Amino acid sequence: MTEFDLIYQLINTQSIDRPDVKTGIGDDCAILTVPEGYSLAVSMDTLVNGVHFPESVSAFSIGYKSLAVNLSDLAAVGAIPAWITLSLTLPSVDENWITEFVKGLFTLANKHNVQLVGGDMSCGPLSISIQAHGFVKKALLRSGAKSGDLIYVSGNIGDASLGLSSYNGEATITEACIKRLNEPEPRVDLGIALNNYATSCIDISDGLISDLGHICKQSHCGAAIYLNDIPVSEEYKSYYKQQIDFSDAITFGDDYELCFTINPKDRSAISELSKKMAIDLSCIGSINTTNQIQCFDHNNETVNILKKGFEHFNE
Ligand code: ADP
Ligand code: MG
Repeated sequence: MTEFDLIYQLINTQSIDRPDVKTGIGDDCAILTVPEGYSLAVSMDTLVNGVHFPESVSAFSIGYKSLAVNLSDLAAVGAIPAWITLSLTLPSVDENWITEFVKGLFTLANKHNVQLVGGDMSCGPLSISIQAHGFVKKALLRSGAKSGDLIYVSGNIGDASLGLSSYNGEATITEACIKRLNEPEPRVDLGIALNNYATSCIDISDGLISDLGHICKQSHCGAAIYLNDIPVSEEYKSYYKQQIDFSDAITFGDDYELCFTINPKDRSAISELSKKMAIDLSCIGSINTTNQIQCFDHNNETVNILKKGFEHFNE
C-alpha cells in the first residue's frame, strides 16, 4: 500500500452518490452533467496552516471549514452546491489526522448533498484547496446594488472574532464562539432563497466593511451603516458588557454570514423569508451615491472605523 492509498480508501467512504456524476474519482477527469437551463458556478479557496486556521485546530474542523468557506461562496451567488474537487498538500501521511479531516469534510458535504469527484495530492506544508461547483439560473452578483436599496446581514457577526481571541489567551470565550470560527455554517439555503429578492450579495469572509466595500465598488455606490442595528449575539454583548465594541464585529471576517441588498419594496417579503427559514435577517443601513461607507452611532454621529478587514499581503 502506498502512502496515498490510505487517503484513497478514506475518500471512498463518502456516502453521496449523485446521478449527475457520470464518472467520479478514479479516472483522469470527472465527467459531470449540468442540468439544462442552469449555469455552472465555480469557486476555489485555499486554507493554509497557521494562516487560515490556528495550528492547534482539530483535523475534523479543518476538513469542515475548508468545505464551508467554499460552500459560502456558492451561497453568496445563490447557487445550489453539487460537486467538489480537493487538492491536499500534506507534510506526512498521519492516519489519525487524515481520518478526522475526511470525517469533517464529509459531515458538511452530506448536509448539502455534495459529492467529491476528484482531486490531487502532494507532499509539503499543510494546505488544502477545494474547488466547489454549483448550479444557478440567475446568479446574485456584487454589482447589482442601487442607491436606495436596503442592506441586510444574516444571523449575527462577531462571534468568530471572539473565537479567535481564545487562541490569543482570552480564557472566557465559550465553545460556541470557538466552533463558530472553526466550523462555520455556510448559508446555502438562504443564498438560494435570496435569488428572488437580492439585488447584490456577498459572504462575509474578510469582515463586513471590507466585503460590503466590494459590493459598493462593483455597484459604483456607497453605504450608510447604523452600528446599533449590527446583529451581534448575546455572548458578544455580554463579553463587551455595557460598552459594545462593534468594530471587531464589522471588521473581523470568518463569520460567513451573507450581506445582501434589496429594493425597499421587498422589505416585508424579507421579513416573511426570515420567519419561514428561522434565520434572523437584519437591516443595517442603505445604499447611497457617496462612494464610501459611513458608519453612524445611535446619535446619528459619524463613527470612524480604524481597523480594516483582513487583507492578505497588507497586514
Ligand atoms: P493523475 O495522475 O491522472 O492526475 P492521480 O493519480 O493524481 O491521477 O489521481 C487518481 C484519481 O484520484 C483521479 O480521479 C483524481 O481526481 C483522484 N484524486 C486524487 N487526489 C484526490 C483527492 N485529494 N481527493 C479526491 N480525489 C482525488
Ligand atoms: Mg493528479
